Amino acid sequence: MDGLNIDSAPFGMTTVESYEPLVGAATVERILRKAEAMRDMHIVNVNSTYYGGGVAEILSSLTLLMNAAGIRTGWRVIQGRPDFFSVTKKMHNALQGADINLSDLKRGIYEEVVYENAVRMHIDHDVVIVHDPQPLPLIGHFRRRGPWVWRCHVDLSHPNRELWSYLAPFVECYDAVVLSLPEYAQKITPPQRFIMPAINPFSTTNKNLDDDEVDERLGRYDIPTDLPLVVQVSRFDKWKDPQGVIDAFRLARREVDATLVLVGNVATDDPEGQEVFEDLCKCAEERIRILSVQDTALVNALQRRAAVVLQKSTREGFGLTVTEAMWKGTPVIGGKVGGIRHQIEDGVNGFLVDSVEQAAARIVQVVSNPDLRRKLGEKARETVRARFLMTRLMEDWLDLIGSFESNFRLKGPVGA
Ligand code: UDP
Repeated sequence: MDGLNIDSAPFGMTTVESYEPLVGAATVERILRKAEAMRDMHIVNVNSTYYGGGVAEILSSLTLLMNAAGIRTGWRVIQGRPDFFSVTKKMHNALQGADINLSDLKRGIYEEVVYENAVRMHIDHDVVIVHDPQPLPLIGHFRRRGPWVWRCHVDLSHPNRELWSYLAPFVECYDAVVLSLPEYAQKITPPQRFIMPAINPFSTTNKNLDDDEVDERLGRYDIPTDLPLVVQVSRFDKWKDPQGVIDAFRLARREVDATLVLVGNVATDDPEGQEVFEDLCKCAEERIRILSVQDTALVNALQRRAAVVLQKSTREGFGLTVTEAMWKGTPVIGGKVGGIRHQIEDGVNGFLVDSVEQAAARIVQVVSNPDLRRKLGEKARETVRARFLMTRLMEDWLDLIGSFESNFRLKGPVGA
C-alpha cells in the first residue's frame, strides 16, 4: 500500500470483515476472494465535493473499504471557482429536467475549468471512475491506460434534451456508464450498467447511538423532544421539496401535535443552497425548526429519534437519507419518484406519496400509531440489511471492474 501501514491505524478501520455479523461469513469470503483477484490494482474516483451530498458520503466509505481489502482506490475532487459550480449546478438541474440557457460563456467556463483540473490531476490509473456531470469532460484530456467509467447519480428520467445533446459526446468517450436504475438509461453507445448506492452502517451518520447520546446531540441544537419529531434531512435544494414538507406538516398538525425539523447543509458544489435555506427560514416557528449545519452526528440522532422521516423529493436519483433512516428502524414517507420507489415498498416498509395532501395524511397515520411505526421500521431495517449495505455496493463494483476485457470492453451483453 505505497508505504502506508493500515495496521498502524490509531482508529479501528472498517473492513469487509466488520460486516460479517450483518451479511454473514459466506458473503464476506466471496467479496474478499473477488478483491484478492484485483489486489494492487490502482483505481481513482473523481467527483466535485468532499462533503455535502450522497456522492461524497458514498466515496468516503467505499474508498476506505476497498483499500482495506487491498485495492488501491483513490478519491480526487475537482476544484472550481464559484462561477464553475454555478454552471454545473444548472447542468445538474437540467439533467433532472429543468430548463437551461446553455450559452457559449457557460460551456467555456465548464470546459476550461475541467481542462485546468486535468492538467494537475496526473491520472494514469488502471480504472478511472468519474462521478456526475461536473468532471465529465476530463476524459478528453488523457491517454487511457485502462477503462474509464462515468457514474451518473442523478435522476435521468427526464433530462433536458439540449443539455443532453451537449454532454452526450463526452459520455460517448467512456467505456461504460453506471446509473442507479434501468429507467435512467439513455440512447448511447457505451454499455450501461445499473448499481444502486448503499450506506455504511458504521459511519458517524449511521452507527448505533444510545438514548443519552441522541438527547445530548438534539439538546445541543435546542431541538424540543416533548412532541413526536417529523424530520427531513437534505441539502437545501428545490428538488427535495422542503416547502412541500412544511406545507404537509402544517396540514398534519391540524390532527396531530408534533415538531418538524428540517436539517440541511450546503455542499461546496451547490451554490443555490444558501438562497433556498434563507427562503425557508421565513417559515420557521416554535414547532418548525430549520437548521443549516454540517453535523452528521445530528443527522444520525434525528433519523433515530424521529417518529417519521420525510424525503418528499420531486426528483431523486437515489436518496441515501431514505436508506439511512430506514436502517435506524424509522419509517420513511418518500416522494414517489426515481430511486425512492425502489427503496421504499409502499405500505410495507414505509410510504410513497405524490402530493402534499398524501404526505400529510401519512404523517398523521404514522405519528399517531406506534404499532404501525414499529412494524414499518422493522421491515425497513431488514430491507437495508439485505440490499443497501456498502458491501453489496463494493461487490457490484468489483464485478463490474472484473468484467472489463484487456481492450477495455465490458464482457457480457450490452445494456445488461
Ligand atoms: N447530509 C448531511 N447533512 C445534512 C444533509 C445531508 O450529512 O444536513 C448527508 C445525508 O446524511 C446523506 C447525504 O448527505 O448521506 C445526502 O445524500 P442523498 O442521496 O440523500 O442526497 P443528495 O444530496 O446526494 O442529492
